[in-house]
Amino acid sequence: MKLIILDRDGVINRDSDAFVKSPDEWLPLPGSLEAIARLTQSGWTVVVATNQSGLARGLFDMDTLNAIHIKMRRKLAALGGSVDAIFLCPHGPDDGCQCRKPLPGMMHDIALRYDVDLDGVPAVGDSLRDLQASAAAGCAPWLVLTGNGEKTRAKGNLPAGTRICADLADVVDHLLQED
Ligand SMILES: [Mg+2]
Ligand SMILES: [Zn+2]
Repeated sequence: MKLIILDRDGVINRDSDAFVKSPDEWLPLPGSLEAIARLTQSGWTVVVATNQSGLARGLFDMDTLNAIHIKMRRKLAALGGSVDAIFLCPHGPDDGCQCRKPLPGMMHDIALRYDVDLDGVPAVGDSLRDLQASAAAGCAPWLVLTGNGEKTRAKGNLPAGTRICADLADVVDHLLQED
């Protein structure tokens, strides 16, 4: 199977320092949903892995997060795209969980769910912790310059082999070309 793992905030939708707390605050980045639709239509299985510490912080609840994801899925469906599954870490930074990126717990959950080896599976993120979680699980890290991406690139210390693209559409151009 052709599997790809995407971070959510800053990759698919606009990130916010104040967190994305409602469907209204969830705003797709230009071209991101169209890019996912191209993956879907080319036979890729698209999975999202996202830290959502806003749950632990009490900024929103699971019902609201589900409503946000219904909005994302509706907009995607209108373009012929889909996300197969959304893996999320609901914990805060001090909860000591294994799923919050930069730890690779969600990646391991994805490997179990799909019964696949993650070696070389592209994993796209805009923050260092996304790339670190990806690299720790054996995925191929891709950095996009949307969201925190410019800052992440400027700070450096990226995992070896990290590929850098302008945005998700640019990543998808490369993946479909190499397909
Ligand atoms: Mg992000
Ligand atoms: Zn967690």
